[in-house]
Amino acid sequence: MTNKIIKYRPIDPEILELAGKHSNNPEALLEMLKTLQGQRGKLDPSIITDVGGAIKIPPANAYGVASFYSMLNLEEQAGNVIRVCDGPVCWLCGAGETRQAVKQAFTEHPDWKIERTSCLGLCDRAPAMLVNEQQAGPYTSGSAAEITQGWRGQPMEYSQPRKGETRVMMANAGNIDPDSLSSALEQGAYQALKSALEHNPEALLSEVETSGLSGRGGAGFPVGRKWRFVAQAKRTPKYIVCNADESEPLIFKDRVLIDTNPQQILEGMAVAGYTCGANEAFIYIRGEYISQAERLKHAILEAEQAGWLGEHIQGSNFSFHIHVHLGAGAYICGEETALIESLEGKRGEPRTRPPYPPTAGYHGLPTLVNNVESYAAVPAIILNGASWYRSLSATAIPGTKIYMLLGHINQPGLFEAPFGLTLRQIIDEFGGRMQAGSTFNFALTGGAAGTLVPAALLDIPIDYASAAKGISLGAGAFLICDQRVSPVAFLRELLHFFAAESCGKCTPCRVGTYRAHEILSRMSAGEGKSGDVDELFALAEVMFDSSFCGLGQSVPIPMRSALTQFNQVFKDAEKPG
Ligand code: SF4
Repeated sequence: MTNKIIKYRPIDPEILELAGKHSNNPEALLEMLKTLQGQRGKLDPSIITDVGGAIKIPPANAYGVASFYSMLNLEEQAGNVIRVCDGPVCWLCGAGETRQAVKQAFTEHPDWKIERTSCLGLCDRAPAMLVNEQQAGPYTSGSAAEITQGWRGQPMEYSQPRKGETRVMMANAGNIDPDSLSSALEQGAYQALKSALEHNPEALLSEVETSGLSGRGGAGFPVGRKWRFVAQAKRTPKYIVCNADESEPLIFKDRVLIDTNPQQILEGMAVAGYTCGANEAFIYIRGEYISQAERLKHAILEAEQAGWLGEHIQGSNFSFHIHVHLGAGAYICGEETALIESLEGKRGEPRTRPPYPPTAGYHGLPTLVNNVESYAAVPAIILNGASWYRSLSATAIPGTKIYMLLGHINQPGLFEAPFGLTLRQIIDEFGGRMQAGSTFNFALTGGAAGTLVPAALLDIPIDYASAAKGISLGAGAFLICDQRVSPVAFLRELLHFFAAESCGKCTPCRVGTYRAHEILSRMSAGEGKSGDVDELFALAEVMFDSSFCGLGQSVPIPMRSALTQFNQVFKDAEKPG
């Protein structure tokens, strides 16, 4: 037996230098990998090993992260990449044809690669795409020259309220320059924080609890109760996290809130920090929202320079620092424990709960995780009081909600209104009615994990409780489909999304979404088989009962509602066509 000589390769000095810039912090792994991918075109094994060595984590862990996120590439990339969205809204707007048209237009451009991607959060710009890192859409032309010469389309404009809107979070959209703190200050920015600093945290906590503000991420959990859990937690330090990982198809409100009034969100976070006893905060924003992340960083810098964030805010004893953390393409990171894992530089896989983040979150310490929209509502509540906020809504759920409206209606987009609207009101009063030639067939309500709703439910008032009647509010999205859209093909597209975004940690979700998509693809291609509907019901049951996290547990919601509400359509699709 001979002794084996192992030769150690020194770590690439550039990677060592990069790690040094991040204080060799393992949490900077994702950011370092993105930087190196940008510089070197791909993340080959030697880069990943060296990054792991530089920040002192096993190479397997570094590889685990590099292979988890869809925006990280282990293979050489073309100089330019166009990622065409194939989420359900873009699909409805012809994303399949768009991808073919773009591919065709770029056949003579070998330095451009055309890929598919899951929902980009640009549903109001469908069919949408990312051109390198820039958001673009709606795409209509089929011209490579336009794209290479800088065409990126036009974002929708939300400065004018629609008839019937009640604006609170959107009140200053269009009134302020989102990149100017002084413009925001002129409209009253940071007056709520100023007032908060003059009060006892307990008084603020009571005000938020009394306001009845519910979490706007989709679950509707009382915000004040969550704040109290964190405020009462004994261990320190505590953290505030803003969930801006808006990755569910149909949902784009957080992007609009950031683009219209970023200071309002920072102010809401600072009030939360003061109330709960936290001095450090993170905004976890999806990797595709590069320009929104830059906007937030600029807003933080301006607020720090003016003494509204940072050390000893306005001469008080309260210091509050906000960091922006960019994700890298993983829908599951919208789940709060997966988000925290990702924030810690790991694969974004959900944790076992309990314990919950308010007691054991970031680094096992008390952590408040709220959605962008929830924080955006806070300044107005502090300034105007809980009674005023409750008075905005005539229903059991106080305040206002941002609704996203898409599909075959005349005026798609976004609006703010109280709870309790019916789908008929949403379509006719806020959406400008169905398009000419379109008849209501069904709507997907809530978000991708919402309910498929038939015409029979058009007059049910919608709030967090209406899910029990077959129509969910979720994060507030409504996709209206006319007679041309088959519920079978539509459900196939939803399962296509969930199968692509299942993190793979548990079998019921990983295999269940794949299998359901396979069956629905066959059924919608006219190759259905007797028993398909029963098998889809059975898969929904297994996913609901045994999936590890909310993603797998919520996929059955659209499956069951579609199979129940449109049972005959699915039964017909069982017969070979
Ligand atoms: Fe991952 Fe799906 Fe399991 Fe959640 S349910 S842990 S997303 S595989």
